[in-house]
Amino acid sequence: MKITTLRSETTAKIYAWKEAGLTVGFVPTMGALHRGHISLIEEARKTCDIVTCSIFVNPIQFNNTSDLDTYPKTIEADIEKLENAGCDLVFIPDTEEMYPEPVTEKYDFGALENVLEGAFRPGHFNGVAVVVKRLFDIMIPDMAFFGEKDYQQLLIIKALVLHDNIPVEIVPCPIIREKDGLAMSSRNTRLSENERTVAPFIYNTLCKAAEMGKTHTIEQIVSWGEAQFNNNDNFKLEYFQIADNIELQPVVNKKKSDNARLLVAAWLGKVRLIDNVDINF
Ligand code: AMP
Repeated sequence: MKITTLRSETTAKIYAWKEAGLTVGFVPTMGALHRGHISLIEEARKTCDIVTCSIFVNPIQFNNTSDLDTYPKTIEADIEKLENAGCDLVFIPDTEEMYPEPVTEKYDFGALENVLEGAFRPGHFNGVAVVVKRLFDIMIPDMAFFGEKDYQQLLIIKALVLHDNIPVEIVPCPIIREKDGLAMSSRNTRLSENERTVAPFIYNTLCKAAEMGKTHTIEQIVSWGEAQFNNNDNFKLEYFQIADNIELQPVVNKKKSDNARLLVAAWLGKVRLIDNVDINF
C-alpha cells in the first residue's frame, strides 16, 4: 500500500492508474479505524480496480474544540488495517497541506443543512463539504463510499456532487454495529466501561420506536422516544426525530412519506453519539 502526504504526489499516482484504464474507489475517513470504516474499503474493493482512502482529522468540521482535541488517533493500527483490507493508497495530509490559506468557501445546502446535526453543530456541514470537495479534487475517484451512520452527511455529499457537477458516484453503505447493537464509531473508545455498557440503549430505543411505525402516530412515536431518553439519567438527548430521507425535514403526515428515517443524537457522559434507522409506516 502506498502512503502519501502531499496532494501533488497523490494525484499523480492516481492519475497514472486512471490513465491505465483502472477505476478508482475512495473512502474518506478521520482515522481511528474500526470495522465500519473497513466495510467501506471492502465495498470499494468489490467494485473498483483501485481502492484509496484518506485519513485526515478535519479541524474545520469540529464546532467543539474539546471534541477535536480528544479525537482518537491510532495511525499505525489504521495503516495495518488498511493494508489487510487490500487498500492500494492512503493519503495522510497534515492541516497545512489541506489548508495552506484561510478557508473562504461557503456552501448553501438549503433546508438540509439547518436541521438535526446542522442545527446542533453550526458550521459542521460547511467544513465537511469543503474538505470532501478538496479530497475529491485530489483523489479524482470514480466512486466514493460513505456510511449511512452519518446519514445527513451522506445527503450533504450527494447535494455537493450535484451542485458542483462532480463526476463521482456516491455509494451509501449500511451501518456496521457491535454485537449488542451499538453503531461503531471512533468516539466509542472514549466511553467509560459503564458508559459502554449502557450505550446500546440508543439502538434498542430506535428499534422499538421503528416497530411502532405501523401502529402509532408520528407524534406518539417521537414523544415515546424522547421520554425514554429523558427518563434515563445516563443520556442527555439532543434530538429524536422522524424525517423524510431526502431533505431530512420533520415528517408530520405519515401518508405523505412511506419511507422515512428515525434519527437520534444524545450525549453519554462527555461523548456525543448519533445513530439512525429506517422507519416504515
Ligand atoms: P469518520 O472517520 O467518522 O469521518 O467516518 C468515515 C466514514 O466511515 C464515513 O462515511 C462514515 O459514515 C463511515 N462510518 C463510520 N462509522 C460507520 C459504521 N459504524 N458503519 C458504516 N460506516 C461508518
